[in-house]
Amino acid sequence: MPYCTKCSTNADKVYDCEHTDFEDYCKDCYTELHYYITEKYDKEE
Ligand SMILES: [Zn+2]
Ligand SMILES: [Zn+2]
Repeated sequence: MPYCTKCSTNADKVYDCEHTDFEDYCKDCYTELHYYITEKYDKEE
């Protein structure tokens, strides 16, 4: 079973990218992380 590194729970599916340091994140954590990244980029413009 895939395991989310951030919230330490099992997930149906996990995602990773450079922003998670290529650790496995569940959909909620992955979405939340990118929500903040997008907000930050929006404010810098
Ligand atoms: Zn998670
Ligand atoms: Zn990313």
